[in-house]
Amino acid sequence: MNHKGVKDRQKPEYLAGVNEFLHFAFIRKSDGTMLKCPCLNCRLVLSQNRKNMQCHLLVYGIDPTYNPWVSHGESIQEIDNE
Ligand SMILES: [Zn+2]
Repeated sequence: MNHKGVKDRQKPEYLAGVNEFLHFAFIRKSDGTMLKCPCLNCRLVLSQNRKNMQCHLLVYGIDPTYNPWVSHGESIQEIDNE
């Protein structure tokens, strides 16, 4: 997924991207797990659970500089294969 080109957060592509990211980030996590939130408000400093992170990404938007998603388990190898 590449969210860099998605500027309009009202578009279904953005919502799909957010859900894809959340699925990826939380796939091996138990309910209530807190992860660094890549929204423009938290900027990977504050941690949020999945529900709050989804809200943040829809309301504040994702940090456009945050790619690759190394903090959430995506390896450099996977990125090279995209
Ligand atoms: Zn946030």
